[in-house]
Amino acid sequence: MSTAQLDWNSVLSEAQKRVRKQQFDTWFSNISLVDLKDDKLLLGVPNAFFRDWLKTNYIDVIKESVKVVTGNNVEIAFRLSPNDPEEDPTVGEAARVQVGQPAYAPESPRPFSRDLASLAREVGLHSQYIFNNFVVGPCNNLAHAAALAVAETPSQAYNPLFMHGSVGLGKTHLVQAIAHALLNRRPRPKILYMSCENFMNQFISAVRHGDIENFRYRYRQVDALLIDDIHFLGKGDRTQEEFFHTFNALYNAQKQIVITSDSPPKEIPTIEERLVSRFKWGMVAKLSQPTYETRVAIIQKKAQLKGRSFPEEVVNYIAEHIASNIREIEGAIIKIIGYASLMNKQIDIILAKDALLDTIDRERTTISIEDTQNAVVGHFKIKLSDLQSKKRSKAISHPRQVCMYLARKLTDYSLKEIGGYFGGRDHSTVMHACDKITNMLETDTFLAATIERLTEDMRKNVSKKR
Ligand code: ADP
Ligand code: MG
Repeated sequence: MSTAQLDWNSVLSEAQKRVRKQQFDTWFSNISLVDLKDDKLLLGVPNAFFRDWLKTNYIDVIKESVKVVTGNNVEIAFRLSPNDPEEDPTVGEAARVQVGQPAYAPESPRPFSRDLASLAREVGLHSQYIFNNFVVGPCNNLAHAAALAVAETPSQAYNPLFMHGSVGLGKTHLVQAIAHALLNRRPRPKILYMSCENFMNQFISAVRHGDIENFRYRYRQVDALLIDDIHFLGKGDRTQEEFFHTFNALYNAQKQIVITSDSPPKEIPTIEERLVSRFKWGMVAKLSQPTYETRVAIIQKKAQLKGRSFPEEVVNYIAEHIASNIREIEGAIIKIIGYASLMNKQIDIILAKDALLDTIDRERTTISIEDTQNAVVGHFKIKLSDLQSKKRSKAISHPRQVCMYLARKLTDYSLKEIGGYFGGRDHSTVMHACDKITNMLETDTFLAATIERLTEDMRKNVSKKR
């Protein structure tokens, strides 16, 4: 069978029956037929990411579709489009996603100039949140590859790119990595990176100062808008309305939009349907909890970035005991390094265990702030993002105060640390919440019973985990 004998459009029609429309549009519309000889089919794809994604997910669909059309079984190979910058084989490596491999960094060929570093700071970027420092594993490979594709072909690969996952799993790192890489492009695009809260504050301030025109101009003239933690966007308020119009304006002008959130679009309770559907237009990628191997690689990377190399035993010890949150892993590394220099000792397993005595005991045997938040969210049937937001409505602020009270009573975190788990509130807010609930408990037996039950449930859950 030869190329001329294969009707590629019929193959595509067959494939279309086997996958959802969005999948088809994203992955199949860019494949071209290059060659067919001796049942070896060569297909052209735009870049290495596409090739790897197709290989992993859709190779059988393609084979089946060819079989239906031609009756033959074929072998499939891919060729990257000749003018694709990703032809560099190292890019394929990154997209192939190997645990422990440092991610390919579009910014690496050019050294970080002084200029660029200060520009990145002005934009509000953390200097270490670059692709090179991001460890890729099964938990984050799709988000990483999509972020990379956006950084390399903004407005073309995926628009918008929506990345979601729970706290401490690398959303901010990835969105900032895109921003760094974009700043390194020539010509340099105008980019705006900010937290959703910052966007809201700027909008409110613009409204207050009658400065809306300026605000709009500022947002709508950018080439890329990157908004972190979109779940903080308030329901039905003017900021969401404004964001909606900003989104439309940028999208229609084919500007790149990148968004992060703690949950997938349709599960953010405050986001209206019309925005939810727009968020799904492009690529939605999830970040999950890292596996043991990925945690090991992350620990090695983080230690190396701090100019250290931890003994294997220490790396394994951290990876075994801290599983759910990479920010906590980083905290443990900092603790160990700090402890070693304080004691003026080498880092070994004994020192590491001493340094992490609090952290790891707390994680395994006692109730954590996350436990209190999960219990409260479950009981009052509210969203975690609301609990952590600045919303003042009673339906949210009461559970939040109960949660702060529980965290204060059941964990040994300081007022300030607790405040940090509730959207960065200061210690006086936490103290006020604790006082208020303590007062209420004197008369409100219903509340007292609720708190007792929640406490009991949490204790049971924790001892089950041990
Ligand atoms: P999120 O925004 O999802 O809450 P962050 O992006 O702030 O999480 O990540 C928390 C910390 O963990 C940061 O210091 C970040 O550099 C680190 N981190 C997360 N994922 C990775 C990864 N895959 N490789 C290296 N560091 C990571
Ligand atoms: Mg974040």
